[in-house]
Amino acid sequence: MRVDVPTLFLLGTAILGWATLITLSERRYHPSRTPILRIWGWGYVLLALACAMMAVRDAFPPLFFFGVSNSLAVGGYFLLAYGIARFANYRAPRRLMALALLVPAGWLFAPLALSNDLWLSAGSVPIAAPCLAAAFMLARLDRLKELRSRNMAAAIFAVHGTIYVLRAAGLPILAITAGRDLFPLIAVVTMIEGVLFAVAAPTALLALVRDEGEERLRQASQTDYLTGLDNRRAFTHKAEDVLHAQAPGALPAVLLVFDLDHFKTINDLHGHQTGDDVLQLFGLILRTKARAHDVVARLGGEEFAMLMPETPLAKAKEIAARVATSLRARSPALAGLSEPVTVSIGIARADRTGTLIGLLADADTALYQAKRLGRDRIECVAPPPSNIEAAPRRTELLEAAA
Ligand code: GH3
Ligand code: MG
Ligand code: MG
Repeated sequence: MRVDVPTLFLLGTAILGWATLITLSERRYHPSRTPILRIWGWGYVLLALACAMMAVRDAFPPLFFFGVSNSLAVGGYFLLAYGIARFANYRAPRRLMALALLVPAGWLFAPLALSNDLWLSAGSVPIAAPCLAAAFMLARLDRLKELRSRNMAAAIFAVHGTIYVLRAAGLPILAITAGRDLFPLIAVVTMIEGVLFAVAAPTALLALVRDEGEERLRQASQTDYLTGLDNRRAFTHKAEDVLHAQAPGALPAVLLVFDLDHFKTINDLHGHQTGDDVLQLFGLILRTKARAHDVVARLGGEEFAMLMPETPLAKAKEIAARVATSLRARSPALAGLSEPVTVSIGIARADRTGTLIGLLADADTALYQAKRLGRDRIECVAPPPSNIEAAPRRTELLEAAA
């Protein structure tokens, strides 16, 4: 079988043209990513122009051809890597960025300075470097870790970059040891891989952008818009996980449910916006008082929950008291409010019923009791004496504030 290198370059040009089109048309669905899609689009344009020049290389004077086509290709790779850095919110030092942009420009004149043999090796370096940098950013940066396609994208850039590292190291050695007879074959293999890269890289980068959109939707479906806390759906999933993971013999989890007192009156007297401010303040207080592994959520309206895995009851009561004190102290500073806002809190331990529904019901019972006894207080359902199964479903309530 004979494979013609100029034909492969033409194929590469067409594929990169297509990659530009699909990348730019994606802007409509991900407007916030327009700048990055544009950067990648320009990257493909430069690579396509380089490929087109290489397909008809005899039409140009050699020095002009080498300088311009390589500069275009290097510029294309740098733009792809730059787009990935922006996508990952990677803040490279400005000087490094400026230096990186100088490379494609400098490459324009490289053929004037480099001998033919040096070119064999050096020509691959500014292609390998941005590809490996892109692979590193894709594989390692935390911002991307939720995106399914990031490993695939990292692998595509890593393979492409490694091939150019091998070229940089291998071609000069080959030229000395075996002569240049194998070079046409290597050119064909490199170009076939290049065509595959031109298909795979744009597909993977678009998959990243789509994954990010999907991830945003998933997050939004689990987050309370006003407070940024988990919503009831996320709370239910996470709380089920905590209860399932509970080891026998370990301290049981403790659930705190919070209900702001006379919240309707706050809305009625000071307006809905002040009510929203109070909810946001309370969300912030819960977030700051919670420990790293506690699950905090807004269950709805002015009701919140905090599930504390493996926590002594006394510790849970202490945190509940701190939340209430903080709300009291900080709420009068909100616009329109002069009186402190208070909260009623119900506490239950997970070993009474063993299920989330039972736990929520217990905590609600305690909360109801706190309301009944005058609000602005912490009530707690008593834990079972010893044997969970044997314990009667009593709703003995203990005051816990002290
Ligand atoms: P209690 O002390 O018994 O808990 O009385 P309450 O007024 O706090 O409770 P009630 O259930 O009567 O009223 C809750 C109010 O919360 C009614 C509803 O308009 C208000 N609310 C629910 N969601 C929001 C919200 O997102 N923003 C604002 N500003 N108000 C909300
Ligand atoms: Mg309520
Ligand atoms: Mg209320």
